[in-house]
Amino acid sequence: MSRRTVLGPGDDCAILASSRAPRLLTIDSMVEDVHFRLGWGAPEKLGAKSLMVNLSDIAAMGGRPTACVVNLAVRAGLDMRFFDRLYAGMRSLARETKVDIVGGNVTRADKLGITIALLGEVGAAAMRRDSARPGDEIFVTGTVGDSALGLRILAGKLNASGKTRRALVERHLSPTARLGAGLALARMRPVPTAIDISDGLVQDLGHILERSGVGAEIDAAQVPVSKEYRAVMGDDLSLALGGGEDYELLFCLRPGRSEAELGRRLGVPVRRIGTIVRGSRVLVRDARGATRPEVAGWDQLRGRL
Ligand SMILES: [Mg+2]
Repeated sequence: MSRRTVLGPGDDCAILASSRAPRLLTIDSMVEDVHFRLGWGAPEKLGAKSLMVNLSDIAAMGGRPTACVVNLAVRAGLDMRFFDRLYAGMRSLARETKVDIVGGNVTRADKLGITIALLGEVGAAAMRRDSARPGDEIFVTGTVGDSALGLRILAGKLNASGKTRRALVERHLSPTARLGAGLALARMRPVPTAIDISDGLVQDLGHILERSGVGAEIDAAQVPVSKEYRAVMGDDLSLALGGGEDYELLFCLRPGRSEAELGRRLGVPVRRIGTIVRGSRVLVRDARGATRPEVAGWDQLRGRL
């Protein structure tokens, strides 16, 4: 436990030292047969991912995670060994990211479920979704679409083998929250607009557009995909634009920053994928330069993917 935690697990409540920094608070659940199946990966990975999805929300605001509480919904048929391994995975990621697990609760249920509420701290200014302006450039970290492909492989809906299969499945089971990149972004002025990509690039960009009252033009050819994605999907970008659980950061900045400068600052590859415009629509420009004006909004686009 860190010094921020005055009293950890074992009493009715945890006691946390108060902090002058503004607090972030987020919660997320992973439920069996909704978000995962038990046969898909090791319990350690499941434990880590259930914390990771929360870390990603803290990263998206430019914060530093501090402490969490865990609620475990337990069904019949799972032994102590399983839960030891699940907790081991969660604890290992918590240690790595300096998060104190300060309490928990266990309840009986029909399905296994892991819910984590995570606290974080943020410096002078948090990155929000409501600050994008026309002319801002839109960037994304890393690559998108791999996790959705990994999910389809695990669900038996897609075939891939060898290294390609392993890389895509791993991306789904063990995603990485962009905590360092989030912290670096939040130090920039003006403070960037940002979101983490959990639902899919176009849908999550849509959340920024909605909150900021703007539209966007995306250059499909610039959307970053991995070589494994290319190997399976070729030029089809539907899962890069619409697949979920990438946990990359999508952010908007006033124009004039190069991908190289941002990559150095954030410590991850960064790609410029488009521009914020007036309006409320997402226009996706394809490789031939043709826009798809029939796409009226991100939700309709989502429907087409
Ligand atoms: Mg989020």
